[in-house]
Amino acid sequence: MAHLIRDEGIVLHSLRHGETSRIVRVLLRERGKISMISKGARSKKGGVGAALEPFSRCEFLYYDKASRDVQLLKEVSILNAHEGLRKNLPHLTVASALAELCQMTLKEHDSHPEIYDGLEASLTSLDAAPKNPLPFLWKFELGLFAALGFALSLETCAGCGKKLKPPYDGPVKFRYEDGCFFEPKCTSASNTDGSLSAVAFATLLYIAQRPTAAIRNVTFPAKRRGELQNFLSKYLSYHLPVRGHLKSLEALRWSDKEV
Ligand SMILES: [Zn+2]
Repeated sequence: MAHLIRDEGIVLHSLRHGETSRIVRVLLRERGKISMISKGARSKKGGVGAALEPFSRCEFLYYDKASRDVQLLKEVSILNAHEGLRKNLPHLTVASALAELCQMTLKEHDSHPEIYDGLEASLTSLDAAPKNPLPFLWKFELGLFAALGFALSLETCAGCGKKLKPPYDGPVKFRYEDGCFFEPKCTSASNTDGSLSAVAFATLLYIAQRPTAAIRNVTFPAKRRGELQNFLSKYLSYHLPVRGHLKSLEALRWSDKEV
């Protein structure tokens, strides 16, 4: 018995199926990640095709049947096509990295409205073509880690309990196991197995403490981009059996391109 369900969702991945159909992987706000098939999507008039492009936020009406892996899409209407982020390669690339992260880390039917809202907030910010798109990926990752149970503890030093207050004049120490940071000179730091440069830590804290829409003016030296991205990737693969490295980001060459 199939139930008709209505839910809002963001398309993560879209592929052709046969002559006229399309299969999409969608992150639904209330019902998590699922696959749907739109029969005849590519022959229909009225923008069904555009609705099923990656990053489109839509309202979906579909027949849900627990026994099948791919649900049948009945109707779809676009709420936000996120046209803006499609105009620039760096922004499109970061949006692809966001979708790749969701594909990689979220289980089917695992409901996480807070992750969904974080994704939509980052996509919306990317639409406005901010000078640095990567902080919107980092902001999303911080929320993703928290929702999946391994939040970074950026507020206080895990050694002495003092509030972490950059700027520091040396690297901040880190522990992968529980995502804790230690002041550079803390005498109570123990079992640390990583560190972040003072600038990278200050950037991360700045991003963590502000809502997504407020981080568009964050500035940091270009050479810290790779440091922060690699740190977050390594932390992710420490806690989940996934490769932290995001293939989507390979389209950007950080060394010589302004991202
Ligand atoms: Zn301390």
